[in-house]
Amino acid sequence: MSEEERKMIGFKCKGCGRINYPKRARCLTCKGMEFEEVELGEECELVTYTQVYNPPAGYKGDPPLMLGIVKFPNGVLAMGQLAIDHPKDLKLGAKLRPIWGMLREIGGKEVFGFKFELTKKE
Ligand SMILES: [Zn+2]
Repeated sequence: MSEEERKMIGFKCKGCGRINYPKRARCLTCKGMEFEEVELGEECELVTYTQVYNPPAGYKGDPPLMLGIVKFPNGVLAMGQLAIDHPKDLKLGAKLRPIWGMLREIGGKEVFGFKFELTKKE
């Protein structure tokens, strides 16, 4: 699987059906420990966001670092960096999609993860 094809995966509890993200040892609802992997989807919606003017060491972008909480159609909430050029494009309810990329550098190593970009650029 290439980097571009990475999908965000949630962990659906076999006990109660809750989709946990990120992976946890026990389900947050029923404490179950058996999960099946499910794709979270290609599109999510911005629920809330914050702008960090003093980003953590190792963040290579220009401040502010934009962090958001997004919601997938299956109800899963996830937090991540927003790959959005201008803070003015931050709108609650904006449609986003997960993309895989470099988040920051820690101890000289690049740390990768999912961030979110607008599905439509205006
Ligand atoms: Zn459960």
